[in-house]
Amino acid sequence: MCRHLAYLGPPVTLASLVLDPDHSIYEQSWAPADMRGGGSVNADGFGLGWYPEGDVAVSGGPVRYRRNVPIWTDENLPGLAGSIRSGAVIAAIRNGTVNMPYGQAAVAPFMLGDWLFSHNGRIPGWPDSTLKLAERLPVADLLQLDASVDSALLWALITNRLTEGVPPADAVATVVQEVEAAAPGARLNVLLTDGEQLIATTWTHSLHVHQTADSVTVSSEPFGPHQWTEVPDRSLLVATATTLHITPMEGQE
Ligand code: GLN
Repeated sequence: MCRHLAYLGPPVTLASLVLDPDHSIYEQSWAPADMRGGGSVNADGFGLGWYPEGDVAVSGGPVRYRRNVPIWTDENLPGLAGSIRSGAVIAAIRNGTVNMPYGQAAVAPFMLGDWLFSHNGRIPGWPDSTLKLAERLPVADLLQLDASVDSALLWALITNRLTEGVPPADAVATVVQEVEAAAPGARLNVLLTDGEQLIATTWTHSLHVHQTADSVTVSSEPFGPHQWTEVPDRSLLVATATTLHITPMEGQE
């Protein structure tokens, strides 16, 4: 299964989050320690999403860099990541689920307006198991899916709620519950941020959190010298750079 991370806090280089630490997400691409549900390497692409330093509204929202190659093959990445700083970052490496398409458009983070989104997991029975859920989406949304992967549909279901004005944590929690009901046994670890707040779920996958006085980092696998706390399965995590709340999700077993 894919690996992902999110960071909110004082601006840091992308390299200090993604490349430099021991067992960074870069290393997790070829040597992950806690893959669950199949897969052994995360070589089907990678993506970085970040908010340029300064006011998000002024800078025009997040910037994204996605590739359909293993992260270790991108010769330009060290230079870019070493020179870009941000106080809000999502990074993801992909291990594509069997029978799902390959390509840059299938790689997280997915993006809409100020939002960045990542999914680590899979929806069993895809796509048939999701047909009822997809019925609530306008046809235009379905036609505009980034790719015909479960993660893109999950993102469309969440953005549908966000555009209806549903608070982001409620939108994420509702969609996770609905997908689990439609496709029992789903793996639904997601990350959602607008650069100020971070929503994350654990749903049959690993996630760890590291908090300091002015930063929050979540990651599928611990990295660097930090003190990490494992987030219990079936939790909803809501954070800003200075706040952190973890609550059990309904339907917890
Ligand atoms: N199912 C998603 C995909 O194929 C996520 C894969 C994963 O978490 N390994 O991209």
